Amino acid sequence: PVVLGIESTCDETAAAIVRGRELLSNVVASSMEEHARYGGVIPEIASRAHAEAFVPCVSKALADANMTLADVDAIAVSAGPGLAGCLAVGVSGAKALAWAANKPIYGINHVIGHIAVTQLQFGPFPKDTLALIVSGGHTSLLHVEDMPRKIDVVGTTLDDAAGECFDKVARLLGFPYPGGPRIDRHGQNGDPHAIKVPMGLTQGKAGAAHPYDFSFSGVKTAVARWVGSEQAAGHEIPVDDVCASLADSVATVLARKSMRGCRQYDSNTLIVGGGFSANSQLRAKLLEFGESYGVDVRIPQIKLCTDNGAMVAMLGVNLVEAGVAPSAPDFPIDSAMPLTKVSM
Ligand code: ATP
Ligand code: MG
Ligand code: FE
Repeated sequence: PVVLGIESTCDETAAAIVRGRELLSNVVASSMEEHARYGGVIPEIASRAHAEAFVPCVSKALADANMTLADVDAIAVSAGPGLAGCLAVGVSGAKALAWAANKPIYGINHVIGHIAVTQLQFGPFPKDTLALIVSGGHTSLLHVEDMPRKIDVVGTTLDDAAGECFDKVARLLGFPYPGGPRIDRHGQNGDPHAIKVPMGLTQGKAGAAHPYDFSFSGVKTAVARWVGSEQAAGHEIPVDDVCASLADSVATVLARKSMRGCRQYDSNTLIVGGGFSANSQLRAKLLEFGESYGVDVRIPQIKLCTDNGAMVAMLGVNLVEAGVAPSAPDFPIDSAMPLTKVSM
């Protein structure tokens, strides 16, 4: 099937066309620069930017694929999780297109899209596979028994997401928003063992809901405390070493738990997705662990890690192929859409 995917959960307006496992076009417009001076995404500004970028993005995605709306079999749009005002723009636009062109529409889960997108590079999910989602707002390990029909959460963060932890440390170091990529660059020049950064929750917490839960707020606090005391002592902060040590600790705990999960669920594949999987230390660590555990680690190319329309279209293809009923014309947005809900 041919699916038009539309994304507007946060600060990216994006549209893409996927046919089967083939990416025919992929257009992303970002309002990130407009938010930078505020140190974070301003929902009102992001919503306005979506309203402006929606039509140009969709028409470019169709033109790049040499198609008109009549050529697509279905439309998929992120219905959550995300900023309500942003979601409303994308979903309303997508509903209008579906109504006008008489096409089925799927309101999909953006975060599940982050792992679905790997199929464009690596093909369909094997049955019974593990998936690690590391995005701006999520850090979760999923057991994907049958994509997109049966997905269970095996572990999730008890506090901050890994990406959030990076963004907060970045602010502390005085980096502009978003700090993740900047920590990545500094980390590449630093010594990952220079500073002792604790690994959040190396074992499952006793009595925790999931044995593979994560925790990163203590990691952030430890770095903040170390930086604070060095500053108080009048020492210069070795920024590269701080970034490298932070990345090493976070990447190690993510890779270690993912591999343990693969072993327990008897999966020799690990699917990885989300903006934080753009991080070079995490990518290297996952591939290194995958090699020694005999696990095929599938991490998408960088431009498919951060928010895009291809991930939405790809999940739409999965839903069409699985014979899942399209969403009702009055389907809602859900800014807190749970990972267990794949579509509306
Ligand atoms: P969610 O998908 O959970 O709703 P989101 O869509 O806002 O969140 P993504 O676009 O998936 O988030 O990811 C953005 C996050 O990825 C930010 O925290 C950003 O700092 C981080 N990020 C992007 N590139 C890198 C990198 N190279 N290293 C570390 N973090 C990165
Ligand atoms: Mg973004
Ligand atoms: Fe995202």
